[in-house]
Amino acid sequence: MAESSPSKPDKTSAEKSEDLQDSESTEGELAKDKTEGAVGGVRKKEPSGGSKNDDDDECDNNDEGDEEDKDGFMQMLQNFLMNKLHIGGKEDIPKVLDEVSVEGIVKYILSGQCKNIVTMAGAGISTSAGIPDFRSPGSGLYANLEKYNLPFPEAVFDIEYFKSNPKPFYVLAKELYPGTFNPTPCHWFIRLLHEKGLLLRHYTQNVDTLEHVAGIPAEKLVEAHGTFRTAHCIECRKEYSQEWVKEEIFKDNVPTCLECSGIVKPDIVFFRESLPSRYFKLMHSDFPKCDLLIILGTSLTVQPFASLIDNVPSSCPRLLINREKAGKIDPMVALLQGMSGGGGLALDSSSNYRDVALLGDCDDGCMKLAEQLGWKEDLLKLMPSKL
Ligand SMILES: [Zn+2]
Repeated sequence: MAESSPSKPDKTSAEKSEDLQDSESTEGELAKDKTEGAVGGVRKKEPSGGSKNDDDDECDNNDEGDEEDKDGFMQMLQNFLMNKLHIGGKEDIPKVLDEVSVEGIVKYILSGQCKNIVTMAGAGISTSAGIPDFRSPGSGLYANLEKYNLPFPEAVFDIEYFKSNPKPFYVLAKELYPGTFNPTPCHWFIRLLHEKGLLLRHYTQNVDTLEHVAGIPAEKLVEAHGTFRTAHCIECRKEYSQEWVKEEIFKDNVPTCLECSGIVKPDIVFFRESLPSRYFKLMHSDFPKCDLLIILGTSLTVQPFASLIDNVPSSCPRLLINREKAGKIDPMVALLQGMSGGGGLALDSSSNYRDVALLGDCDDGCMKLAEQLGWKEDLLKLMPSKL
């Protein structure tokens, strides 16, 4: 599975925080977000229950200090106010792109002005690796689960259901286990951005570990929906390696803790589980610094991830590389907002000054972009063998 899906039904603190992005946000909610955002964004590691993998340690050792986090949060709050409450007119927004097109984005990247690219990815960057997107009609994944008599298909990723019946998840996990798939040209393009010194961070909804396989360093990654790379006992939190869990799964066993007999679960985020603390910490410092957002292979429907696109500065160009347009402003919302910035991508708006769509297959889009940037050879060199 390329995306885990920690969206509903219960709101995580992130979702509550991201409610800010909704059109009906009020000042009260704003105040609430400030509190929760500060807790979520500036805090150190969660005392327990959160992912305790090495990412968190790297996160704490990173160059983002608390002061910088606070600055980042204040900047994000300012971006929010400018976007939602129309503080600061559009004429105050610095013009970044000469033209609102892929060519304009290419020119901007090559200008040297663009230094902190944030990439956001969904299942679409992994489908060409052969990993089915379980949200796509026809992937047949849920249909295959019929024999397990799930109360509802998504129960396979529901933490409460999992505690009582983990078997269906492990059957599915065996079918889709990471390690049998290779990164796509799109993954290698993100690695190339890192090699060029332009990648501030890559936020992925995918749990397939292909970013790691493509050699994108762990400190550059935020695995918003967790990862298969590590696993923990859901009772005593003892950590287990991917290899050990994989062995158990391929023996058709439910991995069971050697200390307390609890179920050992890969650190992917299930429904009704919180997102990793690293996500909250870094989103507050990364997005205000972002000077180009590249959104890859996601329909921007799963919250709170989808709302991240509104956390960049109002001047920041946003490039969508996807099969179809996504993240568009709902017409009613646009009407209520007076058609200004904020609240999604303004791809079809006459007042669009920064949002560009490169529609089609993610791999094709990344190859095209690399070509236009004059980086095609560099990209091909990174990729292990064939195209
Ligand atoms: Zn245990």
